[in-house]
Amino acid sequence: MDGLGLPEIRSTCPYCGVGCGVLLRPDGQGGLDVRGDPDHPANFGRLCSKGSALGETVGLEQRLLAPRVKGQNSDWDSALQLVADRFSQTIAEHGPDSVAFYVSGQLLTEDYYVANKLMKGFIGSANIDTNSRLCMASSVAGHKRAFGTDTVPGTYEDLDEADLVVLVGSNLAWCHPVLYQRVLAARKSRGTRIVVIDPRRTASCDGADLHLALLPGSDVALFNRLFTEIHAQGATDAEFLYHTNGFKNALDAAETDDCSVTGLSEAQIKTFCNLWIGTENVVTIYSQGVNQSTSGSDKVNAILNCHLATGRIGKPGCGPLSVTGQPNAMGGREVGGLANMLACHLDLENADHRAAVRDFWQAPRIPDGPGLKAVDMFQAVGDGRIKALWIIHTNPAVSMPEADAVRDAIAGCDFTVVSDITAQTDTARLADVILPATAWAEKEGTVTNSDRTISRQRSVLLAPGQARPDWDILSEVGRRMGFAAPFDYASPAEIFREYAALSALGGHFGRDFDISLLATLSDAGYAGMVPQRWPITATREGGRFFADGAFYHADGKARFLPVRWHPPAARTEPRFPFRLNTGRLRDQWHTMTRTALSPRLAAHLPEPFVDIHPEDAARFSISPADLVRLTSPVGTAILRAHITDTVQPGQLFASMHWTGETAPSARIDALVPAATDPVSGQPESKAGVVALQRFEAAWYGFAVSGSAMVPNCAYWAQARTHNGYRAELAGLEEIVDWEAEARRLFAAPEALATIMTDISRGVARVVLHQQGVVKAALFVERQPVAVMRDYLTTVPGTAGDGVLTGTPPTDVPDPGPVLCSCFGIGVRTILDAIEGGKVVNVDAVGAALGAGTNCGSCRPEISALLDRVLHREAAE
Ligand code: SF4
Repeated sequence: MDGLGLPEIRSTCPYCGVGCGVLLRPDGQGGLDVRGDPDHPANFGRLCSKGSALGETVGLEQRLLAPRVKGQNSDWDSALQLVADRFSQTIAEHGPDSVAFYVSGQLLTEDYYVANKLMKGFIGSANIDTNSRLCMASSVAGHKRAFGTDTVPGTYEDLDEADLVVLVGSNLAWCHPVLYQRVLAARKSRGTRIVVIDPRRTASCDGADLHLALLPGSDVALFNRLFTEIHAQGATDAEFLYHTNGFKNALDAAETDDCSVTGLSEAQIKTFCNLWIGTENVVTIYSQGVNQSTSGSDKVNAILNCHLATGRIGKPGCGPLSVTGQPNAMGGREVGGLANMLACHLDLENADHRAAVRDFWQAPRIPDGPGLKAVDMFQAVGDGRIKALWIIHTNPAVSMPEADAVRDAIAGCDFTVVSDITAQTDTARLADVILPATAWAEKEGTVTNSDRTISRQRSVLLAPGQARPDWDILSEVGRRMGFAAPFDYASPAEIFREYAALSALGGHFGRDFDISLLATLSDAGYAGMVPQRWPITATREGGRFFADGAFYHADGKARFLPVRWHPPAARTEPRFPFRLNTGRLRDQWHTMTRTALSPRLAAHLPEPFVDIHPEDAARFSISPADLVRLTSPVGTAILRAHITDTVQPGQLFASMHWTGETAPSARIDALVPAATDPVSGQPESKAGVVALQRFEAAWYGFAVSGSAMVPNCAYWAQARTHNGYRAELAGLEEIVDWEAEARRLFAAPEALATIMTDISRGVARVVLHQQGVVKAALFVERQPVAVMRDYLTTVPGTAGDGVLTGTPPTDVPDPGPVLCSCFGIGVRTILDAIEGGKVVNVDAVGAALGAGTNCGSCRPEISALLDRVLHREAAE
């Protein structure tokens, strides 16, 4: 209890698949106090920068508080009846496959269950897919091919006992930071070695023993080589091979692959193979760099082949570990929330499974084959086969490959419904009906994290306005479509019990997923449920899979898959000479609908950028801070140039987060082709091809304001600050009257203006004052603007003495861009401490400044700063 007299509520973080436990308490000012749950087995009290800032993202700004129909506020009765009627009419006229649901790994398991039951059991189509298709569908496919079921064999505890952790296509330090800290803790306590396999030198490399910067998409060739080395060195586990099939075929395929396509030296490959083979306790962690590929499923199976060959699977301290991007990607897999699944790891194609689920649900029909996977689904929306679409908690107009085409397809769909917490997304703006759903901190239900641990998410704030839980909205539509009894749910606990009871069919058919012991949970038991890892059966509680050699193919054995390297679908060519890799940043989440609300998260990297190797920058006459245009065969984007040797020559990296709301010219998935893995349907988001050129702007600007700006120029990117907003701007047209432009940008026609212009040099500085304080300021030059941005973001709402100079008063230190989000410590502050000789390692930086001592997410970057300065000094 605290001063407000409110107890802390146990819940889970809504971002990545680590699934950290959090303790939440309203702070009395509309926000939340958040700390890591010391008793949660995923994080034992740790949180990363995103989790630590959750309290800043729960305000009502931008919240959708009432249903909207055609842009007008409506009421629930009218909106729900319209949705039910339009879906029913469309099905009656065009059949069940003319409608689709596109859902999200943000949904709770209970929401997911109801959506899947409605579509597959009662509408009678399998056209329900999820944005998890973009995240881990290749892992699902790989697991099913190897194990006969979609099971993650290992657990997070394996990281504590591993002697070697191999990160393949995973920037764990930024994308799953709490797991990375766990790996580093093992490194400290038992000397665990770390290998990173990634075309980029990411933050995860800072603590690694070996970084293999292989060429994009060549992972299959590398793991095939490892597989052949395992055989050549006699390191196979003959006893374990008895539990498998297909070893010889897979080995024959592997031996035909040529590892030179990786671009790695023979010495690097040998070092890796010998380290892997020579270390019994090895965990191979993989995520989007493996999955988001036209050969994603084969990459997964190439990794699994190596673990199966050595029997290093399911035992303490070893095994493959696929880490999911989203908080409930696993829950979605369990309830069957993908177009090619049924429910509870049962198969759509299996007539016995279908009949059993149909009988359990008392459903009129269940489709006998898969529905449309995400990319196919939006192509069907575009060509008119899908005529009614319901998008739930996701933003496909930004996040799908060929995002511009997807945006146009949604805009052209006969009837689109969006359920979300805000109407201010690229997708919601296109919808006919927008339904206000409860947000993370207002919801009750369960989620499953990457190591199969089911945790409760609990409501700590009241639902604002008319917002309703997703299970409730979906159930109400189901009832209005004529399915009253099957959707007569009163609570998420009731749904969970039904779902757990359904999972008994999994046990009946000999599947892995069976949580039916929880089917009799009381409401109180559900309310107090503690985190528990499945399987949850009388004989096999919370354990690992497969160490006993029992698999889920019909013969009970695992399968080796013969896989061969294939190049990425898009080939570089003179018009598109660069490979484009896309991914996540440390402090942002997906399309930023929540993280962009947090000033401290926005402070880390407040503008979209593209990493360019120095050689490429020189070849294309690109200087630091220039803007550049990327053009792919399907789209274009403008981004800030970040020149760095963390990428290889010929390769570029850009993040996936920016949207029409935050930086309309930087919607990076507009450039990504809709090429997919033939097995998993997962798009290739890491190996598109693009052209690069300098963006020649007539002017560049930087602006700060106490309120949101209204930019209207070729390039802009706006981010939250503690005092309001900051924006980077650039335009193609000459502007003569900068005072008028500033008044328009800041929506401040009446404010007092202080102006300094030099038209001949293209310089303009405009400061607007209101009621004695700075309202906003604009700085314009012919080249990228050089002002003290971090100081200027503090100016709105203050007297702002001397703000026209763009620099702080001499007695105000400039901390530089924020590096440690938890304590707001800037790069300049840390550099000063290093250069002053006060600190020589990351722990000393923490002791002196606090940086890196909370969530630890910034420790790799502090380490990189130390390396840079200390190496420079040593060289001098
Ligand atoms: S690692 Fe960070 S983002 Fe992921 S669940 Fe934990 S606190 Fe949330």
